[in-house]
Amino acid sequence: MLEPAARFTAQIIATFGRHAEVRDSQGDVWKARPMGRKLGQVCGDEVLCERNPHNDETLIVELLPRRTVLARANARGDAENIVANASLLTVVAAPVPEADFFVVDRYLAAAESAGCAALIVANKCDLDNFGALQPALEVYRGLGYPVVSTSKQIVAQSSALRDAIGTHTAVFVGQSGVGKSSLIAQLVPQASLSAGELTRDDEGRHTTTASRLYDLPGGGSLIDSPGVRDYAPAVAALEARSLGFREVEQRAAACRFADCQHIQEPNCAVREAVTNNLMDARRYESYRRLRRLHETLRQSLRERSHR
Ligand code: GDP
Ligand code: ZN
Repeated sequence: MLEPAARFTAQIIATFGRHAEVRDSQGDVWKARPMGRKLGQVCGDEVLCERNPHNDETLIVELLPRRTVLARANARGDAENIVANASLLTVVAAPVPEADFFVVDRYLAAAESAGCAALIVANKCDLDNFGALQPALEVYRGLGYPVVSTSKQIVAQSSALRDAIGTHTAVFVGQSGVGKSSLIAQLVPQASLSAGELTRDDEGRHTTTASRLYDLPGGGSLIDSPGVRDYAPAVAALEARSLGFREVEQRAAACRFADCQHIQEPNCAVREAVTNNLMDARRYESYRRLRRLHETLRQSLRERSHR
């Protein structure tokens, strides 16, 4: 009689094109491939697997419900999932290259919309012009976002960043050059070994570089890949009412219109807050930029669906 295939739950801890590594509840790691092309598994996903006792193959047969999912905008502007079950988006900013706080706002909006906590890391505190970041950082603190100031030199000795990550599953994002790789290399030395892994899919094509989950000594973990570190968050995945701006969300209920976009509507509580200096004007500018992107996207989706 044929032995039935053993079913077990596991977490995807690495993806290479369509292949994956899964870790079961005992901590054993298995190479696995998805059953069918439509599964849509990403690193961090919890999955149901089936091991064939005859050929020792492990198949991923089902995705279990996700707690969070982060999505990037692909070339067509569509949302494409990249990481599942992350609980902390760690947004790194620095004085060099010059900080673009619209980028920071966009990540924070993505985190908020995905139900992920967010942490801001102000890196390169050893540089003279680090102080220039302070006014913007104060605004984020005022909104309740934790901010950790550090540098690649300090991070090895100080526990501030490790403590802020705690037992979260963290993802590091930010502009290119702000020091993400340097910080990650201090937190998980083995990460630099696999960064940039180029892999081939079933047909032998080069595919996206691997994403991998690393355990942190403090009980948390970090999901990393070069493609994740500076991904452009999908605007389509943003929460429609406030686009993931917490100070907008907080005030939106007081607007006259339930579907207020907070751009030009009369009796808008958000615009009133900006006028009265109760909401940061630069944050509101970011909100307007994202709202325009959101509208353009919705428009092109409508046109596509009418074709
Ligand atoms: P990434 O693109 O965000 O991954 O940034 P990298 O980690 O590659 O760092 C970009 C450059 O900034 C490198 O030359 C690093 O040596 C430098 N760098 C990273 N962290 C710090 C820091 O805390 N202080 C200073 N002065 N330079 C840093
Ligand atoms: Zn409004």
